Amino acid sequence: MISETDLKHLRRCVELAETALEKGDEPFGSVLVSAAGEVLFEDHNHVAGGDHTQHPEFAIARWAANHMAPEERSEATVYTSGEHCPMCAAAHGWAGLGRIVYASSSEQLAGWLIELGAAPSRVRNLSIQEVIKDTVVDGPVPELAEHMHELHGRLHRAKQ
Ligand SMILES: [Zn+2]
Repeated sequence: MISETDLKHLRRCVELAETALEKGDEPFGSVLVSAAGEVLFEDHNHVAGGDHTQHPEFAIARWAANHMAPEERSEATVYTSGEHCPMCAAAHGWAGLGRIVYASSSEQLAGWLIELGAAPSRVRNLSIQEVIKDTVVDGPVPELAEHMHELHGRLHRAKQ
């Protein structure tokens, strides 16, 4: 289900996540790719300023709503380092975007947070499919998920 092209875009998401971490944000990065394979928009997490809604998948949904026709949105793919949270999954659904491919799952992240002794999130840990229907979702990708595990470890050790 995961092609070489998918891996290329996912690796970019992991790079963006690492950039976010280096800037003091949380390690999440996402890329929006058109049906023709063109990278249209990319972003990383920006929560360091105190706004915990500044997730890259949400930024992608907003960008897509403002710059793409409904049909283009439905054919576009969103790649992301970590599975969409419920807020971002809903935004993806409202924006009418297409396939989602993630490197690591929300379930994996929840397990890592427990292992790291981090406080659990107030937002429930729902899978994308629990929030939106009729969406093709692929992931996780084990070797990239392991890299994400490392980045979350770095974040939580830095907070201690
Ligand atoms: Zn989110």
